[in-house]
Amino acid sequence: MSKFSAYDFKDQKALVRVDFNVPLNKQFEITDDTRMRAAIPTIQKIRADGGMVILMSHLGRPKGGPEEKFSLKPLIKHLGELLGGVSVLFADDCIGKQAYSLAGNMKPGDVLLLENLRFYSQEEQGDESFAKKLAALADVYVNDAFGTAHRAHASTAVIAKFFPVEKRMFGLLMEGEVKSAERVLHKSEKPFTAIIGGAKVSDKILIIENLLKKANDIIIGGGMAYTFIKAQGGKIGNSLCEEDRLDIARDLLKRAAEMGVNIHLPSDSVIADKFDADAQVSTAPSNAIPDGWLGLDIGENARSEFRNVIMQSKTILWNGPMGVFEMEKFQIGTKAVAEAVAEATEKGAYSLVGGGDSVAAVNQFGFADKVSYVSTGGGAMLEYFEGKILPGIAAVSAF
Ligand code: AMP
Repeated sequence: MSKFSAYDFKDQKALVRVDFNVPLNKQFEITDDTRMRAAIPTIQKIRADGGMVILMSHLGRPKGGPEEKFSLKPLIKHLGELLGGVSVLFADDCIGKQAYSLAGNMKPGDVLLLENLRFYSQEEQGDESFAKKLAALADVYVNDAFGTAHRAHASTAVIAKFFPVEKRMFGLLMEGEVKSAERVLHKSEKPFTAIIGGAKVSDKILIIENLLKKANDIIIGGGMAYTFIKAQGGKIGNSLCEEDRLDIARDLLKRAAEMGVNIHLPSDSVIADKFDADAQVSTAPSNAIPDGWLGLDIGENARSEFRNVIMQSKTILWNGPMGVFEMEKFQIGTKAVAEAVAEATEKGAYSLVGGGDSVAAVNQFGFADKVSYVSTGGGAMLEYFEGKILPGIAAVSAF
């Protein structure tokens, strides 16, 4: 049993760092509550034990002082509903008299939401005295914010040291994320295939470099594939290309060959005469794209080649779409990969999907419950797979 599950929160005040950085529209309505839902099991376990829950989060990027549009107030009602009809308490300031007094008067089962942590610039600075003031609100620290685990902020990392080791722990969401990421990176059953897509090579160099040491096969799709294809001497027309990354792409391909890692680039592409949902569409080998045309999705041969690799895998990591999946004409490749990952999972492979756009894609195409794990942390997940130590994880794990 995990530390959190084994802990008895009876009569304990738990300060829980959640990631409630949800999108709000102009009327301050929540347009996607995934992050709030993800924290509910942790909150409910503490309440069920007879504990009290103090929630702290950031929202958006305020400039270090209170700003109405970044207030967490619009979340109160929905949070109460998600908890099954709880009247959630709210402190207008995450530290200070009102917060301490509300926290001091809490009863078992109560939930108190603190105002946006980033109304203090000390949060992002990782300020010790600010962290200490937050810590004074509670008995136990629970970090359940995987989405911000790569930041060394006051509430995500620095605060942990103000609690004894037995009173600092991950919440259920964080535990799930860490377990899943560790399973893929450190305990992967082979063959291990990484599928990397998206627009920019520059964003994904470090992850590819680290995965060269771990994966048997790396599938590269999306706009970033064309820099690799050009690096090999291909003609890519007007497709996306990062000219200043051609050498790095060539070097990664060379190192992969030396290390025995198979890199799979799309052999053909769905091409368009402009970057537009109504563009004229054709297909071409990815290394012979006519001038004036650009590759916006992987082609039919690439779909079947990628599928074969995926179907033989026992561990799969997927980050980034295979094409411009936001436009219907260019979503077939991403859909086909999602389908193959789902089928491989059904056959017994372990699959982890992470990173904003691939998560959006599996949700959009209805495959989210057909893969083993969908990560909630875009940047954090990327950094984890780059081989970095995440401060939010290190602070809680440290003894
Ligand atoms: P990233 O944030 O780097 O993971 O990139 C995701 C974005 O890449 C999505 O918005 C896709 O539309 C875009 N994308 C994927 N394939 C291509 C492509 N072939 N050309 C241009 N953009 C692409």
